[in-house]
Amino acid sequence: NLSKRLKTVADYIPEGAVLADIGSDHAYLPCYALLNGLAASAVAGEVVEGPYQSAKKQVKKSGLEDVISVRLGSGLEVIEPNEVTCITIAGMGGALIEKILDAGKEKLQGVQRLILQPNIHAHHIREWLLQNGWELVNEEILEEDGKIYEILVGERGDAKAPYQDVSLETGLLVGPHLMRKQSSTFIKKWSQEKEHYKRILENISKATESEENSRKMQELTRMIAMLEEA
Ligand code: SAM
Repeated sequence: NLSKRLKTVADYIPEGAVLADIGSDHAYLPCYALLNGLAASAVAGEVVEGPYQSAKKQVKKSGLEDVISVRLGSGLEVIEPNEVTCITIAGMGGALIEKILDAGKEKLQGVQRLILQPNIHAHHIREWLLQNGWELVNEEILEEDGKIYEILVGERGDAKAPYQDVSLETGLLVGPHLMRKQSSTFIKKWSQEKEHYKRILENISKATESEENSRKMQELTRMIAMLEEA
């Protein structure tokens, strides 16, 4: 039974896609995509031997060896340019996902859609998409087992378009689509963050005055203002 998080990622796989799932671990996502007719074939990439073996096992057990190729390697190293049409990268930090995309830029040839699910720091990915000509076409936010996850969907296009009616800095931090949708999970996540920053700000304001502290207070005040806007 696939998690709600990975099911939501799978919802964005375009019909007939040739998929690459990077950091696939147990390969649940590509197996689900193939078993449900969401993709035509897939590559499951893993950099660590243990998860690579468990991906191979799962693919074999599902009888999908002819349509899912399990490969050992880092990031987009496991695919050739023009080999896949859709890439999923889920369950890692935003900074690592950004690093994987940036290091594998030449492998993105032929890719039409990126579906990215950072566990934290999604803003790294939004910045990378904006700087590299990928339009953030949709975003999801969901809660599962007490954790909040974001999913970012990118396609080649007008990278600036999603930010036209929001302030760029705030849009990059919280997500322009999520900001427009104002779901209860979105409000929960950022209200919690805002309270967290407010508490830190209060503690620093009680501490001895210093240049370092006044710089931190300025930064926190700026973050809180952005979150109020969001
Ligand atoms: N994608 C699955 C999911 O969302 O449930 C598994 C997430 S798991 C927490 C992260 C996986 O990414 C690990 O199995 C790890 O070995 C793999 N990983 C980390 N860095 C990687 C890289 N540079 N290239 C490929 N896989 C990587």
